[in-house]
Amino acid sequence: MGRRKRRKIVKKVVRKIPKIFICPKCGKQSVFVNINKEENNAYVRCGSCELNATVELYLGGEPVDAYNLFVDKYYSGIIK
Ligand SMILES: [Zn+2]
Repeated sequence: MGRRKRRKIVKKVVRKIPKIFICPKCGKQSVFVNINKEENNAYVRCGSCELNATVELYLGGEPVDAYNLFVDKYYSGIIK
């Protein structure tokens, strides 16, 4: 008896990591990221306009990091 009511703390760790991104070229949400952990890189490809590139990814990099590198490469003219 006399148990203290414990406040229920629901710790929800929701890691929202989108896997499909907006293409910087065609503007469609059809960019997929395939991470290759063994080679520390990621293959990024738009399923709509075929824009694609392989980007180097540091250890533990997330798809969104690969996507950011992909977009950077696109805007700097490395990929077309
Ligand atoms: Zn595209």
